[in-house]
Amino acid sequence: MKNYAGPEKLIELKKQYLFPNAMHFYKNPPQLVRGEMQYLYDSNGKKYLDFFAGVSVMNCGHCNPVIVDATINQLKTLQHTTIIYLTEPMLRLAEKMADVLPGDLKRTFFCTSGSEANEGALLLARLHTNRKKFLTLEHSLHGRTHLTMSATNIPMWRIDPFMSDDCVCIPSFYDSNKELDQSARESLDALETILENNPEDFAALIAEPIQGNGGILTPPKWYFQEMKSLLEKYGVLFIADEVQTGYARTGKMFAIENFDIVPDILTSAKALGNGLPISTFSSNDSIANAFNKPSASTLGGNLVSSATAIAVLDYMKENNLCSKAKTLGNKLLDGLLKLKNKYDFIKDVRGYGLMLGMELNNDKTDDILEMLLERGIILGKNGLNRNVLAFQPPLVIEESDVDFLLENLEFVFSNLVY
Ligand code: PMP
Repeated sequence: MKNYAGPEKLIELKKQYLFPNAMHFYKNPPQLVRGEMQYLYDSNGKKYLDFFAGVSVMNCGHCNPVIVDATINQLKTLQHTTIIYLTEPMLRLAEKMADVLPGDLKRTFFCTSGSEANEGALLLARLHTNRKKFLTLEHSLHGRTHLTMSATNIPMWRIDPFMSDDCVCIPSFYDSNKELDQSARESLDALETILENNPEDFAALIAEPIQGNGGILTPPKWYFQEMKSLLEKYGVLFIADEVQTGYARTGKMFAIENFDIVPDILTSAKALGNGLPISTFSSNDSIANAFNKPSASTLGGNLVSSATAIAVLDYMKENNLCSKAKTLGNKLLDGLLKLKNKYDFIKDVRGYGLMLGMELNNDKTDDILEMLLERGIILGKNGLNRNVLAFQPPLVIEESDVDFLLENLEFVFSNLVY
């Protein structure tokens, strides 16, 4: 076995050389050293079923050999030139994107992180509308740059003491004390009042179709449809932030398709590169036309990331990952709902496809994660009070993996100590 540094040494290095904001899950985190599709291995050779996929990134699995081959072939041939020279992978990828994007979305700008994609989408909305302000949703997360952090509405991720005044937050469609339809209706009523009072102020509203870090918060089906009509009435664009929801995770290529609307601008990142940095914002011909002054991202759509992303899209299609996410997601949802009937501490189960959340009304989220880790399962957590178990595995899991997870979850729940 290789001579690994081991968790203690790594934590020491982290404390010494990173900024003090660098946190990690688990009291005694393992050193992860190897990945193989839905499985991870630590420095002691212990195997884990990964049910978080590096926060919805490894949709096609860890070190997927088909995708890695495409990456390595490109890496060995031509690594980087930047966008001012003519190369093929980014353009072939743009062509493929047009194929999978919803509705009339067709043109894509490539960059490297989710934050950068959202920042670019907000800029595009300003250029197109010549308006300055943005509408955002309570419990949202859109990034770490100044404007995207200002558009973020989860307190723990809003750390800049000097946020932009250009982002106006509307109340959530989710309120744990109300029926979903009622809180969603109130959210849209509040939006309508803001628009009535400020009919020409807003360039766009940015929203995640399912709020990931907010706790897999999932609006009712009619919510985005009515929101879109309202925004259209006032000439406000709708930006779907698909950074976390995108690429087959929810049973559709993009989560907004579950709500049967076409956004004006769609952003993506994470799963498109399956671990390599690449992100996008896309729109239709008419909106894209406003972005006509020179603009370039040095590493955006670089050859290696683009070649990888092409392999990702091909792999998703050839292996029917959308329908897989739907079928296995339904099986998992069934199992989680059965657990909800059995255990009073489970407040809610929600989501689409393999993006499911289980909200707890006890304070045992961390204990559950620790017990699952011990039993060889890596699960996620998020939510405003960090009280939501997040089920977002690689989409290459098998039925037996879902069974294994559910059996272990049942065991852990029945052995919780209060
Ligand atoms: N939008 C959403 C919905 C996200 O979940 C995240 C990251 N968790 C971001 C934007 C920011 O992406 P990145 O970390 O790649 O900048």
